[in-house]
Amino acid sequence: MRCQICRGKASVEVRQHHAAFCPNCFVEYFLKQIRRNIQAHKMFSPTEPLLLVVSGGKDSLSLWDALLRLGYNVTALHLDLGIPGYSDRSRETCKSFAAQRGAELRIVSVDEEFGLSIPELARKSRRVPCAVCGRVKRYLFNRYAVEGGFTTVVTGHNLDDEVSALLGNLLHWQTGYLARQHPHLPSTHPKLAKRVKPLYTLTERECLAYALIQRIPFLAEECPHAEGATTILYKEALNHIEEASPGTKLAFMKGFLKHKDLFKAAEEEVKLKECALCGQVTTEDVCAMCRLRERIGARVKISKRG
Ligand code: SF4
Ligand SMILES: [Zn+2]
Ligand SMILES: [Zn+2]
Repeated sequence: MRCQICRGKASVEVRQHHAAFCPNCFVEYFLKQIRRNIQAHKMFSPTEPLLLVVSGGKDSLSLWDALLRLGYNVTALHLDLGIPGYSDRSRETCKSFAAQRGAELRIVSVDEEFGLSIPELARKSRRVPCAVCGRVKRYLFNRYAVEGGFTTVVTGHNLDDEVSALLGNLLHWQTGYLARQHPHLPSTHPKLAKRVKPLYTLTERECLAYALIQRIPFLAEECPHAEGATTILYKEALNHIEEASPGTKLAFMKGFLKHKDLFKAAEEEVKLKECALCGQVTTEDVCAMCRLRERIGARVKISKRG
C-alpha cells in the first residue's frame, strides 16, 4: 500500500475516501479536514477565543492538538464529573497533555459547583447518570464560556458520534432534535455561546490514528456509565454497514445536512430569557438546572449578571 500523496509506504487506510497515507501525510490530511470543516460552516475566525471541552479521550485531545497546530486561540476546559476512579484518570490525562504542550487548561469540578458529584446528583434525582450529566455539561460549558468571554464552545464529537445520534433521532422520529442537529449551532442570545464540532466528518478510527501518530497521551478507558448506552448499539450497527460499504457514514451525515430543511417545520420558535435564579439562558422562568437543584437541594454558584 502506497501513500497517495508522497508514494511512500502507507500505514493508515482511510476507507471512506478509498485512500491510504503515510503518517506525515495522514497528519496533513487530518488537519486539512478540520480546517475545511471550520471554514465551510463558518465556525470561527482564526483569532476568536475558543473554549474547547476536553475529556481526556482521543477525540478531544486530538482536536486540542490540531487546533494548537493550526494556530487557533484555544483554551481547554475539563469538567471533573466526580465519577470514582475514572474522573481522576481523565483529569490527570488532560493535565499531562496541557503540561506537555504548554497549553492552557481550566478545570471545573461538578462537586464544587453543586456540592454533589454526577453519581450523587443522579441518585438524588432518581435519574440515570447520563441524563443528569448531559444537562450539567450543557449548563456549565455555556456558563463558563459566556462568563469567561469565549465566543464559542468547541466539542470533539466525531463522525461516529454524529451519525449514531442521527440514526437514533431518525429511529424515534425526534424531529425537533433533527431540526437542531448541525456541526455549527449559532448563538441566538447574548448569554448563549455558539457550539461547533470541527471533527464531524472524521471517524473515531481516524482520530485514534492521529492520536497515536502524534503520541498524544490519551485515556483509552470509557466512562463506566457509557456501557450499554443505546448510542453504542447504533455505532455497532453503523460499523457493520460501513464495513460492507465504506463511505456510508459520511454520505449519511452529508446527505442529512443537505436535506435538513425537511425538518425545518419542527424547529420550535423558542423565546430565550434569563433564569430568575442563576441568570443563565432558558426557555422557562427558572432553568432546568435550577429546578433540578431545588428539587434535590443541591447548591449552585450564582453567575455574574450581565
Ligand atoms: S457516559 Fe454518561 S455519565 Fe459518563 S461522561 Fe458520558 S454522559 Fe456523562
Ligand atoms: Zn505520504
Ligand atoms: Zn438557573
